[in-house]
Amino acid sequence: MALSGLAIYKMLPQTNCKECGFPTCLAFSMKLAARQVELSACPHVSEETKTQLDSASAPPIRLISLGKDGHKLEVGNETVIFRHEKTFYHQPGLIYRLADSLDDQEFTHRLDQVADYGVERVGMDLRPDGVAVQDSSGSADTFAARVGQVAGKGLAIILMSSDPATMEAGLKAAQGKEPLIYAADSGNWQPMADLAKKYGAPLAVLGAGGDLEALAALAEQVAGYGVENLVLDPGARGWSDSLGALTRMRRAAIKKNFRPLGYPVITFPGEGSEDPREEAMLASQFIDRYASLIVMDDFEPAALYSLLTLRQNIYTDPQKPIQVTPGLYEIGDPKGDSPLLVTTNFSLTYFSVAGEVEGSGRPAWLLVADSEGMSVLTAWAAGKFDAERIAKAVKAAEVPDKISHKSIVIPGFVASISGDLEEELAGWQILVGPREAIGIPSYLRQLAKG
Ligand code: SF4
Repeated sequence: MALSGLAIYKMLPQTNCKECGFPTCLAFSMKLAARQVELSACPHVSEETKTQLDSASAPPIRLISLGKDGHKLEVGNETVIFRHEKTFYHQPGLIYRLADSLDDQEFTHRLDQVADYGVERVGMDLRPDGVAVQDSSGSADTFAARVGQVAGKGLAIILMSSDPATMEAGLKAAQGKEPLIYAADSGNWQPMADLAKKYGAPLAVLGAGGDLEALAALAEQVAGYGVENLVLDPGARGWSDSLGALTRMRRAAIKKNFRPLGYPVITFPGEGSEDPREEAMLASQFIDRYASLIVMDDFEPAALYSLLTLRQNIYTDPQKPIQVTPGLYEIGDPKGDSPLLVTTNFSLTYFSVAGEVEGSGRPAWLLVADSEGMSVLTAWAAGKFDAERIAKAVKAAEVPDKISHKSIVIPGFVASISGDLEEELAGWQILVGPREAIGIPSYLRQLAKG
């Protein structure tokens, strides 16, 4: 049964030594109760307490890591069914599958496509996470050579082979990069589990056709054998079968605390689709519910961009919008007489406005007021983007010391605050800009003409 933070706190050493990464035992116990940390983070818990707390405190979905150092991909550790209940913590890894039987040129080309892809959105660097090397050649040497090629790229790696000897060749070639072994099934689980132990690698457990009872029994067997870092593949493919399986698994883990299904889930949208477009759509279903690793077959930059954007949105904490730091930003080397615009610190708003100013080719100053991460209209309605806040932002950023005029352009949506702002900024001219960022280039052109 789940314990409250206070009940857990009473069982902790209460020395506030901070070794767990939290300032106090109470803070740690609250996180433990919310199942966002593991008990093992506190090195001072007695064995007796460990036994008492273990099942009550372990996250309902185990945290699994692939890769090392700067290229670590962490999945799992989720605590809710729906994002709005709290937040989702670890976004699913987007992995591209490459067959080891591809010729040298094609394999290298596809690998580079994945490794080199990157886009910036609202100030964040978005990239695919890794490569799955599929044993299609039937040759352990070929498999190992391809894995070695991938290992130099700083990506998460999944090794896909049902043959333990080939798998071991891949593990050796992965150079200790903690790849995921895919997969242990009812026929080969023991040698695969031995490899997972020997190389300290996480292990995927493969079910058949969405039979969750059989999958749970196999996962329990493998965990009982001593391999606890597991990833599950229910074996369901296609739209409704996989949605049903993944939803039942998430519910069993979160609502019933059913440990044998409390692991991250791996999916293969390409195996349930007729073409690349359907694969991308199915991948988007998996981002929403409830995949931890999504192994794609078709690399299509436009589809990848959509998936990365969706993933970024779903895995943003709904209570903490992505924000930029309030202050005065220079867009395109502005001079003292360049126009001054003001907007909110919601990232998407900032980057839309900054992008349009930049695209206009007219340098400008962009003042970002602290609206607690809300967009213009939302912030205005909540009283977080009003004349007082804008005037404060002007002062805090020492705007009068940097520009030689006293004009400020406010978003068209908040034209109604012009009068109040005139009072707050005595002697300033308040100009009402366009409602949408897209109107900024033509507005700046008109402004330059006077
Ligand atoms: S490591 Fe343990 S004893 Fe130290 S502060 Fe954290 S919970 Fe308390």
